[in-house]
Amino acid sequence: MKYYDKLIFDLSKDGKQGYSLPSSKWSASVGELPSGLCRTVAPELPQVSELDVVRHYTNLSQMNFGVDTGFYPLGSCTMKYNPKINEEIAAHRAFASLHPLQPASSVQGVLKIYRELSRALSAITGMAEFTLDPFAGAHGELTGLMIIRQYHVSRGDLKRTRIIVPDSAHGTNPASAAVCGLEVVQVKSNASGLVDVEDLKPLLDDTVAGIMMTNPNTLGLFEKDIRNIASLVHECGGLLYYDGANMNPLMGVVRPGDMGFDVLHLNLHKTFSTPHGGGGPGAGPVGVAAHLVSHLPVPKVMEAEDGTFYIADGACRCPSAPEGAGVFGKECGCMPDCVCGCQSCGQISGFMGNFGVLLRAYTYILMLGRQNIRMVGPLSVLGANYIKESLKDSFRLPVPGVCKHEFVFDGLMDQSTEVTTLDIAKRLLDYGFHAPTIYFPLLFHQSIMIEPTETESKETLDGFIEIMKHIAAEAATDPETLKTAPHTTPVRRLDEITAARQPVLQYKDMCI
Ligand SMILES: *Cc1c(COP(=O)(O)O)cnc(C)c1O
Repeated sequence: MKYYDKLIFDLSKDGKQGYSLPSSKWSASVGELPSGLCRTVAPELPQVSELDVVRHYTNLSQMNFGVDTGFYPLGSCTMKYNPKINEEIAAHRAFASLHPLQPASSVQGVLKIYRELSRALSAITGMAEFTLDPFAGAHGELTGLMIIRQYHVSRGDLKRTRIIVPDSAHGTNPASAAVCGLEVVQVKSNASGLVDVEDLKPLLDDTVAGIMMTNPNTLGLFEKDIRNIASLVHECGGLLYYDGANMNPLMGVVRPGDMGFDVLHLNLHKTFSTPHGGGGPGAGPVGVAAHLVSHLPVPKVMEAEDGTFYIADGACRCPSAPEGAGVFGKECGCMPDCVCGCQSCGQISGFMGNFGVLLRAYTYILMLGRQNIRMVGPLSVLGANYIKESLKDSFRLPVPGVCKHEFVFDGLMDQSTEVTTLDIAKRLLDYGFHAPTIYFPLLFHQSIMIEPTETESKETLDGFIEIMKHIAAEAATDPETLKTAPHTTPVRRLDEITAARQPVLQYKDMCI
């Protein structure tokens, strides 16, 4: 253990000071505060020097792993590099000091960014219109499903309460459907890892609200039958939801709108390069096809005929509507395709989403431009296939063939050792790589899901391949070292269940 590791907490010493304030002529006015609001006891703040504080936080930051410190091939999470220009723009005074209650007339430029980002996302995905309100991918799923429900309800089609979800789906899909009050029906994958169309057909009837799919699916495989699936679901009156959390492989190549999807969400904090992990912040914009635009959430940013922007709050603004009528779809007698907000599925966030995240995504799109965005998909696919082909003699590849941006191994090729996927993941940390996603998808017992993303160099991919081969060799010669890994990290192998269920959040109870 290094000297500073021991000293990282409990640095306070009476009388140490890390700041100095100029004398202020206002200090006397403290007496004007109501006495009930004044402290009687001084706050228990640590007394430390500025240098102590700098070392404390810098050392803490070094105990964690981030995409800025090393390769992070976490499948389904798209840990791509987040360009620093995004941070610079998001921190700019013009944006950082905005207040969410400012009148629309004072933030016309910001509202224009909302519209332009929406338009760019529509162009990338082939959808008619977007809401930028949801705070995460799962929040976007909930919003999209609320839109689907609102669509059926607005047509008086009240029986449609079942939603079909493939067995390979991301866990948030069935969870969001349940939160939306829909009954989840599972459709199986076939031997090639794709949705089994023959298993799907008997599930389709007039109680089906829709199907949730991701394409490429969680095995990194493109659902070749998607057009056929889309027409089967549409024929039975259902809608198609696209989980676009990982748009990486498709960007500039294929558009979900052209595959027949009606609703989708994107994870700006994956595909569009906002830092993520540890629970936030994120943004999960939802795009819809033309026939669903009227059901998008409110408030929404609209462009008036004179080119100014305003915020539609859900009240009906149709000339024929009675005064004050029609908030959130209450009877106002207006047309079913009215876009002013009264047919909306409701409000799903306090203001209009995570503006800082939206701004980073907008910067990312502008920095790449139309031409370079087209290269994101092919490069992310090339990287994944390069790793897969280089390692397939050392690790079991359950579904061979060309993958998209990610793929799944099912443990080591050599099954004669006790070494598990967990041991391999922990050992990678010793070599300075973040572990891939493990034990997901649930289709295999020893899943290792690898997604390199398009931002990594060939040298980094070669380094990862070399270490993975080395670990496969270690499994045969020195399994004990793998079973007790990691050895070089600030904390060793954790009890992951207790860490998640009974987290210790105060350092004084913590035993480092
Ligand atoms: C990450 C992810 C989600 C959920 O996104 P959150 O922002 O974590 O809620 C949903 N689906 C897929 C395929 C994902 O990879």
